[in-house]
Amino acid sequence: MLATGKDFFSTPIEYLKGVGPKRGEVLRGELEIYTFNDLLNHFPFRYVDKSSYQKTSEIPGFDGAVLLRGTLLAVKESGIGRKKRLEAIFEDESGKVSLQWFRGVNWIKPKLVIGAKVSVYGKAKLYNRKYIIAHPELEPFGDENESGQGLQAVYHSGEKLSEMGLSSRGIGRLIQTLLPQIKHKVDEFLPAWLCSELNLMNREEAMLCVHDPETAEQAQRARLRLKFEELLLLQLEMLSRKVTAKKTIKGHPLTVVGEPFNLFYEKHLPFQLTEAQKRVVREIRKDLGSGEQMNRLLQGDVGSGKTIVALLSMLIAIGNGFQTCLMAPTEILANQHFATLSRLLAGMEMKPALLTGSTKKKNRKIIHQGLMDGSTKILVGTHALLEDEVKFMNLGLAVIDEQHRFGVAQRSSMWRKNVIPPHILVMTATPIPRTLALTFYGDLDVSVIDELPPGRKQIETKHFFESSRLKMFGLIKNEIAKGRQVYIVFPLIQESATLDYHNLMDGYEAITRSFPLPEYRVGIVHGQMPVDSKDFEMDHFVKGISNILVSTTVIEVGVDVPNASVMVIESAERFGLSQLHQLRGRVGRGAEQSWCILMTGNKLSKEAKVRMQTMCETNDGFKIAEVDLKLRGPGDIMGTQQSGILNLKIADLTRDAQLIILARAKASQVIDKDPDLSATENKKLRQVLSQKMKSKPNWIRIS
Ligand code: ADP
Ligand code: MG
Repeated sequence: MLATGKDFFSTPIEYLKGVGPKRGEVLRGELEIYTFNDLLNHFPFRYVDKSSYQKTSEIPGFDGAVLLRGTLLAVKESGIGRKKRLEAIFEDESGKVSLQWFRGVNWIKPKLVIGAKVSVYGKAKLYNRKYIIAHPELEPFGDENESGQGLQAVYHSGEKLSEMGLSSRGIGRLIQTLLPQIKHKVDEFLPAWLCSELNLMNREEAMLCVHDPETAEQAQRARLRLKFEELLLLQLEMLSRKVTAKKTIKGHPLTVVGEPFNLFYEKHLPFQLTEAQKRVVREIRKDLGSGEQMNRLLQGDVGSGKTIVALLSMLIAIGNGFQTCLMAPTEILANQHFATLSRLLAGMEMKPALLTGSTKKKNRKIIHQGLMDGSTKILVGTHALLEDEVKFMNLGLAVIDEQHRFGVAQRSSMWRKNVIPPHILVMTATPIPRTLALTFYGDLDVSVIDELPPGRKQIETKHFFESSRLKMFGLIKNEIAKGRQVYIVFPLIQESATLDYHNLMDGYEAITRSFPLPEYRVGIVHGQMPVDSKDFEMDHFVKGISNILVSTTVIEVGVDVPNASVMVIESAERFGLSQLHQLRGRVGRGAEQSWCILMTGNKLSKEAKVRMQTMCETNDGFKIAEVDLKLRGPGDIMGTQQSGILNLKIADLTRDAQLIILARAKASQVIDKDPDLSATENKKLRQVLSQKMKSKPNWIRIS
């Protein structure tokens, strides 16, 4: 916060009346609240309408959480150790309901005082014809706040905080102490035209109303304003980073398409490019020739043909006298890329080199030499490429196949590989929702391949329970009789998990019994096999010698066998959506009808059901990514490390999709008109932004 209030807002939290050194320490440790400003930015996550309580008798007709007030009648503890549970009987004037806890019993128990008046918030569920509310939120009532009108804010708290009297209610009281003092101190920093165009509540009012709203609408408007502000700053940060990069960092101008590209395109291109591929190649070509450094994200569904686009881009760089590299997130994928590129380039006088963690020392030396003297034009590998000893003579383009596993930091460490940083092309292995792309890759330009190569038949996806296993076998036999091949994948989430390994081997044996020699040949690959046996088995399958390949997720990425028409996924409920979609992408590569069979146990969680249903309903990776985002949240999708960088206080990447897109549009509008925010109307915005950026590592400047 700014100007008049600046010093006030940075006052250490213990100086607030009611805090003091002990509570100050807990607030810092638990909620990272150091200053008045931090406390104000500890926003409520919901509101309780003080005037609308339900009665226990109304529970049966009530969908969603209920808010009750009444008295605790009895408290009973049962079980021991992990089975310990706690039950309290709650009563109001209309009846009784049972409150239950299965965790944190020791902590909750002393708080339950028989005869105490409490308000209870939670979802009631029917068990054995009795309603229970599990893990309700409990608040004492009967104190000064009881008779209030309007809404009461509810805040995140925790065990340690509650012990210091800082439950939601206690935190609320602190904020109520602070609110009257902030009046006339909160500065508006958004340009006036923006506030009026979007009819935004002004900043001070929003700060007051978000903590102490009179009506739900008011709370809503306050939150909207604060969310928008947060997202706008985020987008401005991305865009101004992009502008700064463009201004301060020169890129290698790749002025010609060059001989290698033309030769490959005319003589060795194995298929016609799709229109989408052509468009993306043009976009990349334009970037590469512009004299600015390219930072582009290439998005496309599984099987949309990103590899060839990467290769063509690399050939342009090589044609301009530069070296290139392609970095993959795993060794298997690096090997696969290496094999694909070697095959595609077989007719050209150009051999890629492969560098991974398991490259032998002797070979390593040879590779290093080839990179230093410029004779190696294409290096494929894992993050081993980032090591300091890997030095290029003249790296012009780095392609990064991300699969969400590399972060911004790795991207920028690529930049160090040349005096003038190389052009960067980031490919995502699975689609990510637009909102996440804008947020996590907002500083990149985006190209999308939104079309699959021609002649692909829709993959038919079916969900079978264990009881229909024979039906699944029938389908497999049918396909094999037609000359097709089949993948059967077992979960092996951690390659070392012994239990999974046994499952895999049991499964393999069962399959060899149901598909006996000589009619059927079943191969197996898994992570614990020596590399040469793995290669041997893969090779058998690729050549069509074996007709069934039993495997773990090692085939998740990369493998390309167009004759394979069935993908069976065992224990499919254990896979995440994007992984299921990736696996499914291994079939449907030829012109034949392909199948994906999801095998699951009979008992499925709600979430697992949604996953199976989504897979059966759609083949569209972008739609699947949207559902995945809703189910798992951005942290799990992008890696918590990356979401942590954002540190959002009020906006929600899952729920505020529209607002993210609006914020992006408005941020572009601001930056287009005034790239360095030097106009008077943007002065305060710039101050806030630069303060914000100072407190975070600036990846662009890491060198
Ligand atoms: P992804 O985008 O998942 O990395 P790949 O680059 O591995 O996709 O391509 C998937 C498959 O489609 C490969 O077998 C590739 O040879 C093939 N392919 C790519 N583009 C075309 C095209 N334009 N026409 C026909 N096949 C194509
Ligand atoms: Mg790929």
